[in-house]
Amino acid sequence: MTGLQPEHGTGTSTRPLSSRALVLTGPRSLEMRDLPVPEPSDDGALLRVEACGLCGTDHELFTGHLPARTPMVPGHETIGVLEEVGPELAGRWGVTVGDRVAVECFRSCGTCDPCATGTYRRCTSHGLRTAYGLSPLDVEPELSGGWAEHHWLAADSMLIPVPDGIDPVDATLFNPIGAGIRWGVDLPATGPGDVVVVLGPGIRGLAAAAAAREAGAEFVMVTGLGERDHPRLAAAADFGVDLAVDVADADPVAALRAATGGRRADVVVDVTANAPAALGQAVDLAAIGGRIVLAGTRNSTDTPGFVPDMIVFKELTLIGALGVDAPVYRRALDLLASDRYPFRSVPRTVAPLSGAADLLATMAGEGEGPPPVHAVIVPRADELR
Ligand SMILES: [Zn+2]
Ligand SMILES: [Zn+2]
Repeated sequence: MTGLQPEHGTGTSTRPLSSRALVLTGPRSLEMRDLPVPEPSDDGALLRVEACGLCGTDHELFTGHLPARTPMVPGHETIGVLEEVGPELAGRWGVTVGDRVAVECFRSCGTCDPCATGTYRRCTSHGLRTAYGLSPLDVEPELSGGWAEHHWLAADSMLIPVPDGIDPVDATLFNPIGAGIRWGVDLPATGPGDVVVVLGPGIRGLAAAAAAREAGAEFVMVTGLGERDHPRLAAAADFGVDLAVDVADADPVAALRAATGGRRADVVVDVTANAPAALGQAVDLAAIGGRIVLAGTRNSTDTPGFVPDMIVFKELTLIGALGVDAPVYRRALDLLASDRYPFRSVPRTVAPLSGAADLLATMAGEGEGPPPVHAVIVPRADELR
């Protein structure tokens, strides 16, 4: 543990020379390593990681379904406390040493055209190549993922202060709730009177439903597939959902029309993973002029039931969504803090670094039980609760 590691300085300084990190070296191969903590600098920051949320990307990197540039320290939904912060970062994000922050995994140079116009995920010097929790060790800094006791933050990091009263494990929900707000409301411009259908009842799906409800949607339906989704479908009513449907035993279009007096969906949000049939369902469910947000990846070219001509006949708009936006994370943390929806009590599995492999396998559907609705890594085992 950290206390046994050599430390810089004397007296009261506890600055570590290295920090324990879980390194993905290849499919299903995780190694605990001590990685060097960079020297203090005027423009960077050192974060003591408290918790890191996991999502589909993580278990797909782990299993090899998603190509990973290894070796790397995964973890891109990170919450921690600033142990050091340079004046520039501190000023830009309004933070100081001791503050709890959420880390946006994308970095932003702040000056290129995409950064200047707010689409920093397309930054010409960053993008996925340098994203925290997704970049390999040979992209500086090495300590750039949340599956570690410390995370180095470069000068062009984006930080979001966590409101008081939200504990670090709950705060990792900034990412899935932010995704729900962006995918369920911002991108499809969901508004009062809309019928909204969310495909996929995971935490992002439930968040999209709650966000649509907040935006004034008149009717919200969520779909799942089979037995393992039943606990999530049962929880959906607490997240503003009017109707939860298991597509394994009910026709979602018929169910929607029966419940809405014959309407179809103004907005369909697809947050499914590995579900090739979802696109066809989304197109079937959509009303004329409907908007379909595609946020789930299917890892397949198969699209059973998808009739491309229906996009023409219904004049549908298909919107691809990759990730979230830093301003949305603030709204996500505010919605979490409001407790209008029981985000803090969703079924959750929390594991230390040593338990990551088992947890990721369970998330990938390879475990005994159903995948947890929300999964979090707490790097310091003594901070597990
Ligand atoms: Zn994620
Ligand atoms: Zn840029």
